[in-house]
Amino acid sequence: MHPAIFFDCDGVLNEEPGGHGVLGPDDIRLIPGAGAAVRAARQAGYLAIIVTNRAQVAKGFVTLAGLETIFARLRAMLAEDGGIVDAIYFCPHHPERGTPGGTPDFQIACECRKPGTLLFRRAIADFGIDVGRSALIGDSLRDIGAGRAMGLTSYGVRTGFACRDVERYPDRAPPAPDRLFADVGEAVLFCLAHPAKRGRAAQPD
Ligand SMILES: [Mg+2]
Ligand SMILES: [Zn+2]
Repeated sequence: MHPAIFFDCDGVLNEEPGGHGVLGPDDIRLIPGAGAAVRAARQAGYLAIIVTNRAQVAKGFVTLAGLETIFARLRAMLAEDGGIVDAIYFCPHHPERGTPGGTPDFQIACECRKPGTLLFRRAIADFGIDVGRSALIGDSLRDIGAGRAMGLTSYGVRTGFACRDVERYPDRAPPAPDRLFADVGEAVLFCLAHPAKRGRAAQPD
């Protein structure tokens, strides 16, 4: 059983561009230290797994082939700093139907779009991941909600949405990250210094 660090993508490893999000490889701007953070995680024995919502596919802004070019660029940029990603799991769906120019096959309510947990469950099964020793790093409360539902130690970062997207939870308390860090580099350093045990967040010394 391997521990893993699950990374959200936009707002964690690369800048969250806002608007419709990342629509092509040229929209990828790495957050400083992201490649080194992935490298450090793997050197410490963690799998580095990206779990990302890609509603742009359902909305017709990006094709599946286009998505592959985006992921290829991201992988290459992270690898320049030694950050090798073990796998990328993505959700191409969005529940809103009938978007002009959208892709009807992907306009469904699915279980993989975060805060849904299907992508995590797939990764855990594919790699034999030890959830109790693993952690998630996200910039959106959707990431944190998915991590919480999986029993993962769930860390937030102040880049991207900075876990301030509370408007997604108008009628209930939003999920709270175990800890909030300046960026992915700081979050990974903490993960490595305070390994999660049995799915509970490490407590400060
Ligand atoms: Mg994000
Ligand atoms: Zn999905």
